[in-house]
Amino acid sequence: MMEPNDWRLHGQERYLTDAQLRKATWKAPNPKWNHDHCEFCFAKFSEQDGDLHEGYSTEGGKQWICEQCFQDFRETFHFTLVE
Ligand SMILES: [Zn+2]
Repeated sequence: MMEPNDWRLHGQERYLTDAQLRKATWKAPNPKWNHDHCEFCFAKFSEQDGDLHEGYSTEGGKQWICEQCFQDFRETFHFTLVE
């Protein structure tokens, strides 16, 4: 559940409200870019063992959100899950 002053919130409503997200496996977009972080809790996505491999991404894989944060914030942010 989300708390009103959840530590993970730091202005994401400016760019993630009504976001259309797709469940995806994280893949390096280019050889120099080897990880991303969850927009909320900073959990790391990469192709390495021990990091997250699956999450929810915005169009073009620009932003990533982990499973837990997606569940916690989907109602507040009106996330839409697209196939
Ligand atoms: Zn997260």
